[in-house]
Amino acid sequence: MSSKYIFVTGGVVSSLGKGIIAASIGKLLQARGFRVTIQKFDPYINIDPGTLNPYEHGECYVTADGVETDLDLGHYERFTDIRTTRHNSITTGRIYKTVIDRERHGDYLGRTIQVVPHITDEIKRRMLREDGEDEVFDFVITEVGGTIGDIESAPFMEAIRQLRWQLGQGAVCVHLTYVPYLRAADELKTKPTQHSVKEMQGMGIQPDVLVLRTERHLDDGLRGKVASFCNVDLECVVQCEDMPSIYEVPVSMQRQGLDAAILRKMGIAVGETPAMAPWHVFLEKLHGAQQEVHVALVGKYDLQDAYKSIRESLNLAGIYNGVRAVVHFVNSEGLTQACVADRLDGVAGIVVCPGFGRRGTEGKVVAAEYARTHDIPAFGICLGMQMMVVEFARNVLGYDDANSSEMDSQTPHNVIDMMENQKAVTQMGGTMRLGAYDCELAENSRAYEAYGQVSFIRERHRHRYEFNNAYREAFERAGMKCVGINPTANLVEVVEIPSLRWYIGTQFHPEYTSTVLHPHPLFMSFIKACVRYGTVKA
Ligand code: GLN
Repeated sequence: MSSKYIFVTGGVVSSLGKGIIAASIGKLLQARGFRVTIQKFDPYINIDPGTLNPYEHGECYVTADGVETDLDLGHYERFTDIRTTRHNSITTGRIYKTVIDRERHGDYLGRTIQVVPHITDEIKRRMLREDGEDEVFDFVITEVGGTIGDIESAPFMEAIRQLRWQLGQGAVCVHLTYVPYLRAADELKTKPTQHSVKEMQGMGIQPDVLVLRTERHLDDGLRGKVASFCNVDLECVVQCEDMPSIYEVPVSMQRQGLDAAILRKMGIAVGETPAMAPWHVFLEKLHGAQQEVHVALVGKYDLQDAYKSIRESLNLAGIYNGVRAVVHFVNSEGLTQACVADRLDGVAGIVVCPGFGRRGTEGKVVAAEYARTHDIPAFGICLGMQMMVVEFARNVLGYDDANSSEMDSQTPHNVIDMMENQKAVTQMGGTMRLGAYDCELAENSRAYEAYGQVSFIRERHRHRYEFNNAYREAFERAGMKCVGINPTANLVEVVEIPSLRWYIGTQFHPEYTSTVLHPHPLFMSFIKACVRYGTVKA
């Protein structure tokens, strides 16, 4: 069949969980045997989210082909195991850049370049994925960031309007809204939904399916009211109540027939409801995980979404280990020798987080030292690994002034440094080592065991600085081993201290590839160590 297109938009307020709904639809269609991809269109002007402060948009998620994207792509991958690429994350900035570059190149032959049709055409081209990819999809799900009515999302809405007209049954629009509960009146209110749909209708788009986000159950009467006010079939009004876990959402959507409603709208035979057995096995494990294992997340961003993929990776690895991983954020900025014992008291494991810039790095060094000297399972990721290396250099090798040259460009002991060939590039984003790179693991290392005795792995990167190979021998002699090496560039990707119970640092980001059905082996092994050596609470 030719590709079909599903658009996911949101109204009333932001943070409704469009990404989770888009990912759930993807999962449900995939379970029916369809080839699916999910893409995100963000209305901001940045070319990509790479330069955005995590306080603004949460974590920056990196694809295997090395693109810095929105954290929703993490949901897409975790739910569906699909591998997103540069085609799956588009911003207004990128759209405009393409059009403006084309204009400078003379491609428009002197014509006036306008939002409609030039910008909207470029949006449409990308929504249709006409970029010469090899992969063929039965369904392309497009989530549009922002909320209906935002000035900046107007060109996206116009593109959707045109595409729906052009594609007929080949395109549907799923619109998410919010149904607030007013405690004083003891009533659920549908008016914001009606307004939001009216606003879409004003743009020429009639939503086909409505997903109502709500904190309370909505009865059929209320759904019927929404259906008749909004010109939507009753079976196309589904609700998404707050749930204890986002991973319950696909099952709840399936129960309400969201995927079947979409297929019917598109004139596709619905067939039997897939059993989704592996997903249900996972949910059973989730429900069965009662005991808690407490893990400290040492980082500088006191915001849930800033370390989204790490949190989810810990969560998933916990479930597969039969425990609930309870994550405690520990701000590295205030972490000192004086308070570290107090702050990390009782945790079964410590994750030292990635990051950029100096702020909070000394606290990460303190956490690494505490973990090392108290033999608490510790996992350093990217900057976290670099700070493990710095700590070891200072306190074991005796280089008091050791540092990464990112934090102290003058240090004579630059145990983490920028590679020569990167130094020449100065443009933001340009110097970064991004995307998946090969790594060879030393046999019999803990990392090798964790991966199930696999020697060749491929993991995603996002960093500028590297372990300085001039110090490799000194580290190895003193007990920190470089057990993962990039075979082409000879760069250190994994360090570990074999004499400790579990002390591993990775220059790459394993959190980007941990999914619901395939939790990452390093997180699995880390949580296993936490359960084994730490206090597990009933
Ligand atoms: N700031 C460090 C570097 O650029 C680490 C980056 C990261 O943790 N993602 O190398």
